[in-house]
Amino acid sequence: MRCDAFELKNAPRSSGNPIALFDRDGVLNIDHGYVANRENFQWVEGAKESIELCRNAGFLIAIITNQSGIGRFYYTEQDFLGLMGWVAEEIDVEVVFYCPHSPEAKCDGRKPSPKMVNMALQFLEGDPARSFFVGDKVSDIQAAERAGIRPVPFAGGDLREVVIPVVQEIMDSETS
Ligand SMILES: [Mg+2]
Ligand SMILES: [Zn+2]
Repeated sequence: MRCDAFELKNAPRSSGNPIALFDRDGVLNIDHGYVANRENFQWVEGAKESIELCRNAGFLIAIITNQSGIGRFYYTEQDFLGLMGWVAEEIDVEVVFYCPHSPEAKCDGRKPSPKMVNMALQFLEGDPARSFFVGDKVSDIQAAERAGIRPVPFAGGDLREVVIPVVQEIMDSETS
């Protein structure tokens, strides 16, 4: 088992793309702890709309998620992939990078490592200066900082409240 990517769309043909990266649990869905099925997958307010507005602004979308529940044998990798397949029917997302390892495995992909963020930027031909990563934990913020992209902390509530300002800021920097 390794850290892996679940590709939902073909890689883009252009380069220098703005990328909106999202942590999953606590950002897109309420973090009930080791969410592994649809019954426990409760969308955060404004999450779907945030993805849609990023896409409308020209961003490609990636999800970057630690899934130690797989390494802890709470659920299987197939459970996770099945759930993400359903998520991808609900929102428009290019790729999911996930680390299935428990912290004890000391995988170098697990956040706060920037590795999965960097892999997503590389896969999507992202422009770091026009990309951001929304996360609810310190490890997300550290992963973003180490990858050299804007960290966007989210503490709950409506996701649009943190996403709209950063999208606006990046779009404004393009036109100025
Ligand atoms: Mg989280
Ligand atoms: Zn890993």
